Amino acid sequence: MEIPLKGRADLRIGDIAALMRHARKSASYKPALLKALVRCCGQSDDLHISLNSIGREFTKLYWNQTVVYHLRQAASLSKESMAVKLIRRIAQAYKAHDLARLPAAGRAEIDRQMSRLLTVNVLSAFHASRPPGMPPLFQWEPGQDHVAITPKAHAFLKTQAAALELVANFYWAEFLEGCNRLAPRIVQKVSRDGASRKSLQKYFKILSEESNLQCFYCEALLGEQRAPTVDHVIPWSFLLEDDIWDLVLACARCNSSKSDWLPDRAFIEKLLVRNRDLSRDGISLAIGEPEVERLYEAAISVEWPRSWSP
Ligand SMILES: [Zn+2]
Repeated sequence: MEIPLKGRADLRIGDIAALMRHARKSASYKPALLKALVRCCGQSDDLHISLNSIGREFTKLYWNQTVVYHLRQAASLSKESMAVKLIRRIAQAYKAHDLARLPAAGRAEIDRQMSRLLTVNVLSAFHASRPPGMPPLFQWEPGQDHVAITPKAHAFLKTQAAALELVANFYWAEFLEGCNRLAPRIVQKVSRDGASRKSLQKYFKILSEESNLQCFYCEALLGEQRAPTVDHVIPWSFLLEDDIWDLVLACARCNSSKSDWLPDRAFIEKLLVRNRDLSRDGISLAIGEPEVERLYEAAISVEWPRSWSP
């Protein structure tokens, strides 16, 4: 159906929020498309936005949530959205965890399929929950390889970028809370771009004293031959937290082989013992033993990759 162009009012944040609110139970495509459009308008003043550009932004957003944070976009794995199935398939085929390191062939394939997915049930459905009187954010007809936006809509998407991202993040996070009941910090996982981390150097001294400079996992002696690294026992990408209760020294080989996996349960027991030692030495821990165990169980419940051991 053609969306009338005449007599339109201005675009308003409140209308965009209403559009998101009325759609929030269906899927995460609407907040994803809003974020993708905001980012495309931030990068270019072109009033034709190619589906390929939107697809690339979709890939970035869903890659982070799916491969880095292991969040589901559906109540069960079998009902997973097409975007997530596509990303899982490519990540597995290329054994890639970091989108920036995905080989060019994989990146081309994922972007091509993502832009095709937009034409199936994303672009045409976006305005379905539009509140009365709200002008369309963009125009797209089946067969077109781009969406067209008015100068007004472009200015709106560009100047209101921060507020629009907040609205998109809120409704996306709310949707994800329903599918990932035990995953912590969903708002942060939705809002963050990528997985940049803080240095863990400040924990090094205290961990060196506590560990007798042994790798927490393989127990090899650390030193000049084997440089010690600081590792999160429960993966950072699940917790989004750096705190001494979860940090240990590991050899580079264990650290890189463990990657973002959960270790075998025996290492959680070992961590609890280590934390008792820290407490005895007067180091205050942010959380107690039952909470550490619950976080480990929670990660298992969201099907985090697990049972790693050296
Ligand atoms: Zn080791």
